[in-house]
Amino acid sequence: MASKLHIYNSLTRKKEEFVPQHEGHVGMYVCGPTVYNDVHLGNCRTFMGFDIMFRWFKFLGYKVRYVRNITDVGHLLDDGEDRILKATRLEKLEPMELVQKYTIGFHDIMRILNTLPPSIEPRATQHIIEQIEMVQAILDNGYAYVKNGSVYFDTLKFAKDKGVYGQLSGRVIEDLIAESRDDLKNQDEKNHPADFAIWMKASPEHLQHWNSPWSVGFPGWHLECSAMSTKYLGQTFDIHGGGNDLKFPHHENEIAQNYGACGCTPARYWLHSNMLLMNGRKMSKSDGNTITPPQLFTGDSPHVSKAYSPMVLRFFSLQAHYASPLDITDDALAAAEKGYKRLMEATRTLAGLKHPGNGNASALDKEILDLLDGLYDEMNDDFNTPKALAKMFELVTKINGLKDGHLSWNDVTEETFAKMQETVKAFVFDVFGLLDEMESGGREFKVMDGLMELIIELRQNARQNKDWPTADKIRDKLNEVNVVIKDGKDGTEWTLG
Ligand code: AMP
Ligand code: ZN
Repeated sequence: MASKLHIYNSLTRKKEEFVPQHEGHVGMYVCGPTVYNDVHLGNCRTFMGFDIMFRWFKFLGYKVRYVRNITDVGHLLDDGEDRILKATRLEKLEPMELVQKYTIGFHDIMRILNTLPPSIEPRATQHIIEQIEMVQAILDNGYAYVKNGSVYFDTLKFAKDKGVYGQLSGRVIEDLIAESRDDLKNQDEKNHPADFAIWMKASPEHLQHWNSPWSVGFPGWHLECSAMSTKYLGQTFDIHGGGNDLKFPHHENEIAQNYGACGCTPARYWLHSNMLLMNGRKMSKSDGNTITPPQLFTGDSPHVSKAYSPMVLRFFSLQAHYASPLDITDDALAAAEKGYKRLMEATRTLAGLKHPGNGNASALDKEILDLLDGLYDEMNDDFNTPKALAKMFELVTKINGLKDGHLSWNDVTEETFAKMQETVKAFVFDVFGLLDEMESGGREFKVMDGLMELIIELRQNARQNKDWPTADKIRDKLNEVNVVIKDGKDGTEWTLG
């Protein structure tokens, strides 16, 4: 394999060769969901995008530690709204009950979409001590101040010392200083509008709170990622990712906090995935233009004409580069469904084909080898899945050509054919993370059909032996699991009720 992995780094705004901090190892942190409601397709796009990167690093042979957190503590916004507490009030649940419910829901969806579980999934509520320690370190280093039991990060001091604040989002110190002159009258407890809370004193009705040296309160939103990435990946590590709506303020403030606590920038490469749009607008809960995965899988949404399966959604996401916006429409989903089926058919065909022998190295052979190398090159070019998919479809044409006789087996060596079988399978299933839904559904159905045949036979035997209790028990137990059996002239049939 000739090409080397290059990644677009949001920090330097350049595509750079990826050189891990420790040879053979990758440390990767991705901001996880805030678990106060159901994930929507936009969130899924981001997590599937980072799943592809995780898979590609593993495929390249790296040992990857992938940390993706669960934000289960007050999502503190500057307007003071706490999303988790609002949801607990509306749903009449304990905070931990609420976050448990949506964490389970999130995991279910991630599994259905065949995203690999992270190596570590730390929760903010389980890392309060680490967060308090980090606040203390930031205070000790002079980058924060205490006001009425809350602790604020001193953004101006950071910007002056580091020489830059806003590396990711393009904010500059001059703007902040100008703001500080204009906006001083706007201050409540903060010295400067760009300062942000790293510890908040809780009001009496605030349910999620912990003891700290400054007050009974709770950590600021940005702090958990700084504390947990440092704990599990070290003060500096390779990759930090998230949706590009997290660049500012979340990631910018993470960088500031880590600098305040340890004097260094946490991640060396910052990766930002782009937004999923619907009708040209970011899919977002607050805008009301969301589709949830269950709505898509059942077709129960005004935005889709029919149901689309999880793998169609995954295939659809692969069709765009992670850093490009992606507009979801019914037509685009229908096209993705066709593409997905065509790819799966070809994958199945390829697995079943056998080289008849007498293959020679020809132009076709070379073309196939180039396409196979091309898959690696495209993934190494900043995880370019749409281009890798395009190469894959050129291979699909070759596979179908060999199958139906348009292309000659004599023009492909046995070696190249074996390489194609191995590489296509690995990319489709291991790198793209697709599942063959027809195949897996079919296999399960076959097993179930076989089992039902056996059960029906046992029941027939029981009836013939006038063992009515056993025969009735079988029927009743099947009913309990929604399997209905009907005795007819041609024997007994079963259906799902
Ligand atoms: P949240 O739970 O709001 O923190 O979001 C979890 C992840 O989903 C973050 O990385 C967001 O950037 C990402 N996200 C939110 N909305 C979208 C969207 N419309 N398209 C892609 N990613 C999104
Ligand atoms: Zn984060």
